[in-house]
Amino acid sequence: GPYFVGVDIGGTNVKVGIVNDAGQTLAFTKTKTEVAKGVDAGLKNIYQAIDDALSDCHFTMDDIKAIGIATPGTMDIPGGKLVDPPNLPTWKGFPIRQVVCDHYSGKKTIYQNDANAAAYGEYWVGGAREAHSLVLWTLGTGIGCGIIIDEMIIEGRHSHGGECGHIVIQMTNGRLCDSGQYGTLEAYSGGKSLVRHCQELLDAGRPSILKEMLQEGNKLSPLLIAQAAERGDELSNELIMESAMCLGVGTTTLMHTIDPDIILFGGAVTFGGKDSELGQRFMNRIRQEAKTRAFKVPYENTIIDFAELGSDAGYIGVAGCARLACLKAEKK
Ligand code: BGC
Repeated sequence: GPYFVGVDIGGTNVKVGIVNDAGQTLAFTKTKTEVAKGVDAGLKNIYQAIDDALSDCHFTMDDIKAIGIATPGTMDIPGGKLVDPPNLPTWKGFPIRQVVCDHYSGKKTIYQNDANAAAYGEYWVGGAREAHSLVLWTLGTGIGCGIIIDEMIIEGRHSHGGECGHIVIQMTNGRLCDSGQYGTLEAYSGGKSLVRHCQELLDAGRPSILKEMLQEGNKLSPLLIAQAAERGDELSNELIMESAMCLGVGTTTLMHTIDPDIILFGGAVTFGGKDSELGQRFMNRIRQEAKTRAFKVPYENTIIDFAELGSDAGYIGVAGCARLACLKAEKK
């Protein structure tokens, strides 16, 4: 011991891990979120996932020192509440930290943004161990971003620090984002937007092997688009490279804002990551765009690469945040 529970609530999945003091995962459960249906169904789902993970380790909540909960923003981190999350709209205003804490009889519970948590995970035990400063992009349903400088997660004065999926990359006639704004990075490179845009192009009659794949009963998803791209589908390749180009633009903005040591890309929508040819092309397209647009010094000295923890970063990271909160409390 000590042991921590990390809960990463996303727009698509809930991931729960039991994590030890060294950042290793002892048990893991993943469930499709019922969150979209609302708080009641979602919470039931989450408690079940936590209880399953505990019993996998033959643990009860008594063996756990603290719980970390991560959700997409917007949110009030010190207040423990969701505010108005575009990817979890039915949870608007929900005081999740207190509710989970009460459910587990007052167990210490901390709350963090999903992408900030993931950045902490990469910093703690992943691809940015002991970096002075790092940016992690988390590519999923939405675009998350976490910034850590000198061990500190940049939460901002109003818990909106590092909400870089919502930086505007297209000022005129930009695509609509679920946040209600136009032309945001998420509206171009977020998984949900990618799928929506792809569907629009298919409906408009663009030829693509995706049509056959859909007729075979597959559901349109970033994964399906990646599979089509790997089979040489022009439309899918074009969409993925466009997404990478936009991420390169966003990355340039962060180089010019933060100038970090390292900028990493994680999450489920990285097109196979470092082990796939498509993933490598995706990364090279990001780098190429940043190279074209950024000042020479930051570009040449900043590592731009895939993260290491994949889609585990969120729950590991938020367990790490819970651990950190305990350490800080003990120091006082
Ligand atoms: C939210 C972020 C979140 C990201 C990934 C965005 O839409 O604004 O807070 O980190 O999605 O879930």
